[in-house]
Amino acid sequence: MNIEKHTEAIKACRFCFMCRHLSGIGNVTFRESDTPRVRALLLDQVMSNPALLANADTLETLYNSDLSAACRYHCVKHFDENGLLLAAREDVVKAGLAPADVCQVAAEYLARPAAPAISGKGDVLYFIDYNTAAVPAIATAFGKIMKKAGVSYRSAEKGCPGKALKVLGYANEAQKAAREFAAAVNAANVKTIVVSNPAAYDALVHDFPEMGIKLKGKVMHTSEYLLSLKLACRKKAGALYYLESDFLKNYHPDYEFPGKLLSHLGAKRLTFGTNNEESYTCGEGALVLQQLRPVLVKKLACYIEARADHPEKDLLVTASPYTRKQLSTHTKLKVVTLEELTASLI
Ligand code: SF4
Repeated sequence: MNIEKHTEAIKACRFCFMCRHLSGIGNVTFRESDTPRVRALLLDQVMSNPALLANADTLETLYNSDLSAACRYHCVKHFDENGLLLAAREDVVKAGLAPADVCQVAAEYLARPAAPAISGKGDVLYFIDYNTAAVPAIATAFGKIMKKAGVSYRSAEKGCPGKALKVLGYANEAQKAAREFAAAVNAANVKTIVVSNPAAYDALVHDFPEMGIKLKGKVMHTSEYLLSLKLACRKKAGALYYLESDFLKNYHPDYEFPGKLLSHLGAKRLTFGTNNEESYTCGEGALVLQQLRPVLVKKLACYIEARADHPEKDLLVTASPYTRKQLSTHTKLKVVTLEELTASLI
């Protein structure tokens, strides 16, 4: 079983309460089962008796997680509670135990073409994944910035690099999608690949090398690319709250570019909520939580709204199109992405 690779985390987490307050789902369900400790206890039992993986409550718990990796990041010894869950999901799928709702969401992604449709001219390729496409203002803002900077670029729209399949536990299918995606992007032969969605960025810079897949061109999250343009601003961003991305903070510790871009834009960053450890992303790390657990995503959004100082007038900025979409859908919060903020200032 894949979870055997995470025996160390199982042993450490099963009797530990230390990070339970950082489990986003646990904070809205108030259930102990939605914390790293009880998930590890359940999987400890599965190690002794693999038949227990079929237990309906265990399966529900495994797919409830927001996969923010906030617990791993802030754990003193960084025990990989997040990797344990992903490994367990792979075991579930390999054993043919994926619940009906998980199979349905996976089928939606399997039906999508992996290779993106590429158009335009230039050495820069801008990847507009499904989450970015769901908020058209993001690609529009990027286009405005590129026009101002005088850089022509190509768009790669709606391909699927396999990240959603991977987090659902469909490892082989994810790898097949990743190879098809990479082949299409490599055929474009560009120097730079700019990625708006942090989940897709993580797929390209972390998952692809792990699968032995090489991409031609340097992959940059939009924050890194926009910073490299050294844009002149008409005005300063001023006071705002930056909501960290799970992928850019907890998966890629100390990823510096969103912070540097905000400084370049003249942002005065204010502290959101009561601490800087919690994930305020509505489940960005789980990618398809909105499809699997819409009620929980709404609760996560309301949890964030309840922590805003002035919910109707504070400016919130996120690197994640997913977070932008969920907060705009479920709350009155004023939230924009880094692209939109940048475009409004140049
Ligand atoms: S990740 Fe660290 S802090 Fe959290 S339960 Fe495991 S050992 Fe404890």
